[in-house]
Amino acid sequence: MTIRIFFSGINIDGSLYRLPDFVIDTAALLEKLAEPVWPRIFQIDENNIDFSKNDSSNYSVCIQLDESRIDISAAQIIFCAGEGNAALIEQTAIQTIDTQVRPLHMVYMKKQNLPRMFVHYVGDDFSLTPKVTITSHQDKQGQTVWYMGGDLAEEGVGKAKEEQIEIAQELVRRLFPWIDTSDGEWNSFVINRAEANINNNYRPDDAFIATESNIMVAWPTKLTLTPSLADKVLDTLQSKSVSAADSGEAQSMLADVAKVAETANAYWD
Ligand SMILES: Cc1cc2nc3c(=O)[nH]c(=O)nc-3n(C[C@H](O)[C@H](O)[C@H](O)COP(=O)(O)OP(=O)(O)OC[C@H]3O[C@@H](n4cnc5c(N)ncnc54)[C@H](O)[C@@H]3O)c2cc1C
Repeated sequence: MTIRIFFSGINIDGSLYRLPDFVIDTAALLEKLAEPVWPRIFQIDENNIDFSKNDSSNYSVCIQLDESRIDISAAQIIFCAGEGNAALIEQTAIQTIDTQVRPLHMVYMKKQNLPRMFVHYVGDDFSLTPKVTITSHQDKQGQTVWYMGGDLAEEGVGKAKEEQIEIAQELVRRLFPWIDTSDGEWNSFVINRAEANINNNYRPDDAFIATESNIMVAWPTKLTLTPSLADKVLDTLQSKSVSAADSGEAQSMLADVAKVAETANAYWD
């Protein structure tokens, strides 16, 4: 009911709709997905990883850490590194897949006692992208963070940080004049959406996988399409009769020389 409280008693010129939409806490989702496999997710510098092709044209992975060298042969290697897929494709020199990024200049503002709310401001022209989309998060000090995207972020690409923040401040003042943001901590950053380029630089309609030799490259395209991606990956593994193998030996060798990966902090932390 956050939204009802945020707008209660406020006179708004226009219509306010409550959408049957949901917001995912991505940090919590990541923790949940990683939980059962944490000991198998290692942090290895990309400069320490090499790919080589064997006689049957399959790729294997070579990890060189200090004095230790670990070679991993796998029936299937899956690249699911988001924007990082491009470098992996280049490193392996696989040919069949083109990548693209579509940048966004996101803004956030945080302050004590800022109300939490989740809003698409559509504006008058009902374009497909809302003028601004705001979701609420919490930083490590317990302050509310308003994270702002939508048209603001798309149009902000190429703008200097100061200009982008000023535009966002003006928008927030105009849309929510009853909220005092003068002591808010504002910041912005550019981040890329990364996908396969299969649609003349437009966003693909669905999750996408490409396979070449024993490498599969995977992008969900959108987080909401991750279940579709999982179906595509599992179908492909099944059609190639690839099943899980015992990775215990590689895992214990890696555990001796590499650190288990950690999750990164949010931009506002
Ligand atoms: C600002 C923004 C807003 C978005 N909003 C939405 C939304 O509202 N709804 C929606 O459905 N989708 C949204 N998306 C898209 C969604 O975030 C992505 O589709 C999704 O995160 C892709 O998941 P992924 O795991 O494939 O890649 P990522 O989430 O990018 O994760 C890839 C991981 O691989 C790591 N990595 C990179 N290179 C390597 C390497 N060589 N080796 C090992 N690891 C590597 C990276 O550090 C990263 O942790 C948004 C994207 C952005 C940028």
